[in-house]
Amino acid sequence: MAGTGKFVVGGNWKCNGNTASITQLVKDLNKGEIDADVDVIVAPPMLYLPKVQSPIDRQFKLSAQNCWVSEGGAFTGEVSAEMLADANVPWVILGHSERRALCGESDEFVGKKVAYAIKNGLSVMACIGETLQERESGATQDVCRRQLQAIVNELSAGDWEKVVIAYEPVWAIGTGKVATPEQAQETHAGIRAFMASAVSQDVASKVRIQYGGSVNAGNCEELAKQEDIDGFLVGGASLIGDAFITICNSAKYNTY
Ligand code: PEP
Repeated sequence: MAGTGKFVVGGNWKCNGNTASITQLVKDLNKGEIDADVDVIVAPPMLYLPKVQSPIDRQFKLSAQNCWVSEGGAFTGEVSAEMLADANVPWVILGHSERRALCGESDEFVGKKVAYAIKNGLSVMACIGETLQERESGATQDVCRRQLQAIVNELSAGDWEKVVIAYEPVWAIGTGKVATPEQAQETHAGIRAFMASAVSQDVASKVRIQYGGSVNAGNCEELAKQEDIDGFLVGGASLIGDAFITICNSAKYNTY
């Protein structure tokens, strides 16, 4: 079963850049021609969101890379979903493997974050994916299902309109080691099948599933041709304007 949603590409700038490099990147993105039917979202570091917001072309939607799990208050260093909505930042990336691994975010915590962000009007790119050890032990689908189940537990069926699932095998993130189109397709198909059984057939066909992990201008075309790949979440290559635009335009190879 192929996904029916519009192709969606996110650029996760992570903790990279400074005023000069981000100003240049925005200029490069604004110069790029996006000639495919695609939703494009960029996620600068939190501090730079307002600096990107006014100069960036309206075809790029803005995302934060994280937000807090509940209402704001005495949570030093955090930013709440309400603050993002108030600042007109419509998207947030949640559950990135770097936050799961480095900041100790559990499946349940990520599930609660997704629910709270949606309740406050945000759309979410919710990341899941297995480590190398988990892939090698044949646990890929189990890990993805477990991580997704924790989100399913917190959402109603209607909430899924506000969620894009980003499947990002941890071993492929920032390593230059991309999943083969067949590996990615197989896992995406498994994720969609899980969504059909855990939520509904309707949600499974509509929910968009991005692949993330060393996507670049050279490998995006073959990945985009896969029937269950509905977009990309891009790290390193999203910092290079023309490469990111090429990745966005690979949407035209997705004919499903
Ligand atoms: C990411 O961190 O979301 C990511 C996919 O990174 P990269 O493209 O650099 O592997």
